[in-house]
Amino acid sequence: MLAQDKNRGKIALISVHGDPAVEIGKEEAGGQNVYVRQVGEALARTGWQVDMFTRRTSPEQKAIVEHCPGCRTIRLTAGAETFVGRNELFKHLPEFVEAFFRFQAESNTIYPIIHTNYWLSSWVGMEIRKRQLVKLIHTYHSLGAVKYKAETTIPLIAKTRLKIEKNCLETVDRVVATSPQEQDHMRSFVSQKGNIDVIPCGTDIERFGNIDRAIARETLNLQPNAKIVLYAGRFDPRKGIETLVRAVGRSEVRTHENIQLIIAGGSRPGQPDGEERARIESIVEELELTDCTTFTGRLDHDQLAQYYAAADVCVVPSHYEPFGLVAIEAMASGTPVVASEVGGLKYTVVPEETGLLAPPKDEVAFAASINRIISNPTRRDRLGHGARDRVESHFSWDGVAMQLDELYLSLLKQLHQEFFFGKRKAKVATKKRAISTSQKVS
Ligand code: UDP
Repeated sequence: MLAQDKNRGKIALISVHGDPAVEIGKEEAGGQNVYVRQVGEALARTGWQVDMFTRRTSPEQKAIVEHCPGCRTIRLTAGAETFVGRNELFKHLPEFVEAFFRFQAESNTIYPIIHTNYWLSSWVGMEIRKRQLVKLIHTYHSLGAVKYKAETTIPLIAKTRLKIEKNCLETVDRVVATSPQEQDHMRSFVSQKGNIDVIPCGTDIERFGNIDRAIARETLNLQPNAKIVLYAGRFDPRKGIETLVRAVGRSEVRTHENIQLIIAGGSRPGQPDGEERARIESIVEELELTDCTTFTGRLDHDQLAQYYAAADVCVVPSHYEPFGLVAIEAMASGTPVVASEVGGLKYTVVPEETGLLAPPKDEVAFAASINRIISNPTRRDRLGHGARDRVESHFSWDGVAMQLDELYLSLLKQLHQEFFFGKRKAKVATKKRAISTSQKVS
């Protein structure tokens, strides 16, 4: 744990659609919410005063949630206080900006450092910067230019998003890429201009990693000798759950005695995630996998820690994944990962060291990789140890917060210099004006 240090100053983390205080694993709440909350809390431990701004999605929600000393979520009203999908949110952003300025004025606060998350928040950050001196940092979480390549239906907002993502990369003070692969994507598909630092996402290495496999199975009422294949995450076609189900349906996997497929994640009937779950359930039925498949629904992180520990392998079959927290959570738990060879997963999962990679949508390759792990406990354990080691050395939240801390401190220093330089320039200009006026007078 990082020690509380002297007061470093105030930071606003802006995450318009990813509320850091809500339950994770449903209603579009995933990695971004976890990232903002964990970064916020870890930064507060280093001595920053962190306020995380998000949009209020129900009148019952508290306007301010205190998480720990120095870290809170602040919910601003922008548009109706109800859930609005991210593709429909852009029109409410001017209201969000005004609510932010009102909050600053009413609380007599100015945030010199603003770190925005996802393109919608980057627009908010860039608008704020037009009106106040601030250093702006941005994390994309997902790049339109890459996401739309992997999708068949492109939303109406796509053009606006692509334009804003480019403007953001070229003009904010620093963009944080969460993997070298994401940095490459920004350079290849967004712009050659702009400043990028690579600082990965992290995970809670104490929560994930302290549970013995046999004990976890006993706790969860799972058979000690089952071969457990786990998926955890949102129900979204881009997550590729279909590929996993079809891989488990292939003979090399399904013929294992006691094979168990566990699919964890929340969904709402009638909403896009509920529809995706229904689609996945129908594939499970069609392949006659119902008896060996369990849908757990949404799990909190304490429950998930048990499932990761209990599993023989965790599968992340995404078509596109900017980072993929689930992979490092499973790895921290000592469970090897079979993941798609895309985006941040190519950075976190090292083939033959911490798990295996397979081409996205390739159920044959996924089946072969899953089989290689579940058929050989020695290999499973070797990869599991390698996975835990990699997370300890690269992906702890406190380690990530330390890198962000350094970045913010250097930007704050620059801001002070610019402020004093600006003041000096203004003084010199005033002096010059005074001299020329006095010369004219004399
Ligand atoms: N998650 C959870 N409960 C669930 C399913 C997922 O808390 O039932 C969490 C998971 O632990 C991870 C996050 O949701 O922290 C998903 O993040 P990831 O980066 O893998 O995917 P994203 O949702 O951002 O696409």
